[in-house]
Amino acid sequence: MPVLDKIPFEIDTSSLFERTRIEPTGEYSDEIRELAAQAAVVARPKAVYAAEFVSARYEESITVGTVTFQSRVLGSNLGGVERVFPYVVTCGVELDEIPVPEDDHLLLFCREIIKEMALSAGVLFLRAHLTQTYAVQKVTSMSPGSGDRDVWPIEQQKELFHLLGDVRADTGVVLTDNCLMIPNKSVSGIIYPAEIDFATCRLCHREKCPSRKAEFDAAMWEEHGLAARRT
Ligand code: SF4
Repeated sequence: MPVLDKIPFEIDTSSLFERTRIEPTGEYSDEIRELAAQAAVVARPKAVYAAEFVSARYEESITVGTVTFQSRVLGSNLGGVERVFPYVVTCGVELDEIPVPEDDHLLLFCREIIKEMALSAGVLFLRAHLTQTYAVQKVTSMSPGSGDRDVWPIEQQKELFHLLGDVRADTGVVLTDNCLMIPNKSVSGIIYPAEIDFATCRLCHREKCPSRKAEFDAAMWEEHGLAARRT
């Protein structure tokens, strides 16, 4: 599988201070700068992906390459799409190896933000790589476990990782028995060509989610035949 492990990443310290709400000249600023400096040296966001074709379509599932995914919404979104890009992107294991005292909550929080920044750099780099390499104009993506359970169950991570080969060897990302990823700042899913960006938040009932990017869309929920399934 193609592995991207030379992803450019620079830490935006202004943004780091802004997100931690710490004054750049305040009491903890030197510690944060020191952490950012260490992170800049070791950070190595990575991505692995596959270029696969949709090989079969069913009402409740879709087969990509040799792997079948159980998701009516994924099948519907991939209607008319032939080639897709299953992927895993991660901030990399290196940032978790920077020593931070267990009780230093501020620095631990800063390290998580830096990890998020590294992950974002990885996602942007992968998307740009795919659009350039495969001459695709616009892409969007879906991830197992994102949105309500029926949208694309998180257990389908196993199928996704199976499709991508030895993800651990290529990126350091481990899939736990609960289908979560370590490092925690990793994302997986299928990127596919689309004119309109798909936000799974529109199919998610979770209230007060700080990461919500779009309002719940009842019409879209019905359109995908999900209304009858919710208990
Ligand atoms: S609302 Fe929150 S939990 Fe639901 S899909 Fe969006 S980001 Fe995920």
